[in-house]
Amino acid sequence: MIYPLLSPYSKVTKKRRNNGCAKKGHHHVQTVNCTNCAFCMPRNEIIKKLGCFQMSVFNAYVLPKLYVKLHYHVSCTIHNKVARNHSPEAQKDCTPPPQFRPVVATPQPPQKPT
Ligand SMILES: [Zn+2]
Repeated sequence: MIYPLLSPYSKVTKKRRNNGCAKKGHHHVQTVNCTNCAFCMPRNEIIKKLGCFQMSVFNAYVLPKLYVKLHYHVSCTIHNKVARNHSPEAQKDCTPPPQFRPVVATPQPPQKPT
């Protein structure tokens, strides 16, 4: 008897392209902990986002923006709506997303004291 999973004619669903191995034929990949839940994930499977923090106790003093690299694993990403899955048609669309940049006020020359 041929075990059905080992038969080349079996119709078993292949869940992952690389059968659960690391991407690009790598043997070992460094691990990174998820920022949200500290889940240990291989570095090439995490989702990286830049987080911006701008906190200052004093209203008069404006701190420069601090950017922190955040690592999320897939479940946290979906749960926290950091990223969403796309339809197969949307995945083929390579146009860059629209960028929202703050309107920069035109710099005015400093007034000379009289
Ligand atoms: Zn997580």
